[in-house]
Amino acid sequence: MPSSRLDLVDRPEHGPAAQPTRNPTHGWLLIIETVMTALALSMLLTVGLAGCGGDGSGGNSGGGGGAAATDERLRVVSTTGQVGELVRNIGRGQVVAVTLMGPGIDPHLYKASAGDVEKLRNADVIFYNGLHLEAKMGEVIGRMRGHTRSVAVGEAIAADRLISPPEFAGAHDPHVWLDVSLWQIAAAQVRDTLIDLDPEHATLYQDAAKNYLAALDTLDAYVRTQVATVPATRRVLVTAHDAFQYFGRAYGIEVRGLQGISTATEAGTGDVQDLAAFIAERRIPAMFVESSVSPRAIEAVRAAVRAHGFDVGIGGQLYSDALGEAGTAAGTYVGMVRHNVDTIVASLATE
Ligand SMILES: [Zn+2]
Repeated sequence: MPSSRLDLVDRPEHGPAAQPTRNPTHGWLLIIETVMTALALSMLLTVGLAGCGGDGSGGNSGGGGGAAATDERLRVVSTTGQVGELVRNIGRGQVVAVTLMGPGIDPHLYKASAGDVEKLRNADVIFYNGLHLEAKMGEVIGRMRGHTRSVAVGEAIAADRLISPPEFAGAHDPHVWLDVSLWQIAAAQVRDTLIDLDPEHATLYQDAAKNYLAALDTLDAYVRTQVATVPATRRVLVTAHDAFQYFGRAYGIEVRGLQGISTATEAGTGDVQDLAAFIAERRIPAMFVESSVSPRAIEAVRAAVRAHGFDVGIGGQLYSDALGEAGTAAGTYVGMVRHNVDTIVASLATE
């Protein structure tokens, strides 16, 4: 276990409980920190930084010097469950994957805990959605730059394929994963980043990505086939917040969200009344609640619709911004999308 240069410097502050160094980039950072505080050897610091590579691209996990780290796999931290799914399916067992946001967690409002910051600091690479989805975490991830490579997978999608809502001036709708073909672009970004960081296992990442992209092709076709069973006039999806615009654009469904693109701003009474009038006028059979958003607002709309003399049902729960519980049907990205389309179709297709 000892023997490497890392262990010699690592001992004073980072005892046995500290994360073993799995990657030279990270190892050097530990060295730098420890040396700065304990020994203040500025020369070594300079050498360390030079070897670090500012953009992280030099940080492959070779360990050519015979470092005896116990686990040399890349440590990958993802923010949302759907991003974590890309890493799990493409990194397979070759990366140590951690996802910060569990089922039912709203990424618009999520704040990094002290434990999260520690995980982010210890990562070799951070994958996040970007496009301001993780609004409150932006600063924390920003602070990691120059220290840990961070990749916004949603920002790999060309701007002309992104939706720019008028009320979200200058920014894009972040809910790109709900269009499966866009999420394939994010998947390719994860594949390319892992290969760049760990070229030794390029073939593994290539093959895994190929399989996952094929599974997403199948999923995309499934959603299309299912939506086609809903009569065109009934293809209207009403949800608590406006997460489904990409879904609607890709699969031909008109989408209305009560709350707008982010959950950070509450819906006003005017919004509730407008949506209620729309539902009553169009005689929309069902609205949907979301696992990561309180159902209260949707209940308010339902009551307001009744005042128009029409009764709208609740078509079930959709997974918009978070996966379902692990081990359940919606606990994977593919399962989440299938659950959503099955739930929507079941409520809208029949009278
Ligand atoms: Zn959202």
